[in-house]
Amino acid sequence: MNDPRFAGIGMTSARTRDRLVQRLRDQGIVNPAVLDRIRNVPRHIFVDEALASRAYEDTALPIGFGQTISQPYIVARMTEALLEGGPLGKVLEIGTGCGYQTAVLAPLVGRVYSVERIAALLKRARERLKELQIRDTRFRHGDGTQGWKTQAPFDGILIAAAPLSIPETLVGQLAIGGRLIVPVGPEGAQQLVRLTRREQGIERRVLGSVAFVPLLGGTG
Ligand code: SAH
Repeated sequence: MNDPRFAGIGMTSARTRDRLVQRLRDQGIVNPAVLDRIRNVPRHIFVDEALASRAYEDTALPIGFGQTISQPYIVARMTEALLEGGPLGKVLEIGTGCGYQTAVLAPLVGRVYSVERIAALLKRARERLKELQIRDTRFRHGDGTQGWKTQAPFDGILIAAAPLSIPETLVGQLAIGGRLIVPVGPEGAQQLVRLTRREQGIERRVLGSVAFVPLLGGTG
């Protein structure tokens, strides 16, 4: 990680990143490992060069194909919510996008399996994670609503796009004790939900209001 491009200068420097981390702390993110990843993952290499100076603002930014890189607060909140309850082995991520969330999450869990429906985005995400020397991550081009059957069950599932209702197939791929984090609902009325699979059934907790791009069917 000695590549000067990753360290950043000016609006992408360590000081700018520290300000973002402080802001997330002020907003209630407490997990030190998560905050550390936000500080260390160079978000500016995941966006277009023209947007690099805005990479450490706490905002979603366009990544092409009508999609956005998630807001850092949301990435931190989802990661923190997923990790709450103990260490995770296999984690399924639906909606790789540019790969930023994947990069934040990967070293904090056993292995990430990430599915994206837009092939061009997936290709770029793969390249960036390779550059950052983040291994132990598997990618697949496909419709994430089907999950990843051959690798199930998962200890954690993180869905980065909003379905109207939680896909049953994905709940079915959750291990006992496993957690699923998902934004659910129509545009303008989505809530971040955490499901935990117990022996006796599914436990559901609402974490707050959010705004995500929709979870779509098929591949792009
Ligand atoms: N966390 C990502 C967020 C990307 S936005 C990041 O930080 O970049 C959500 C992504 O979900 C988009 O790339 C979109 O193409 C993808 N997506 C939407 N529906 C999907 C589906 N059914 N299967 C897989 N990916 C999907």
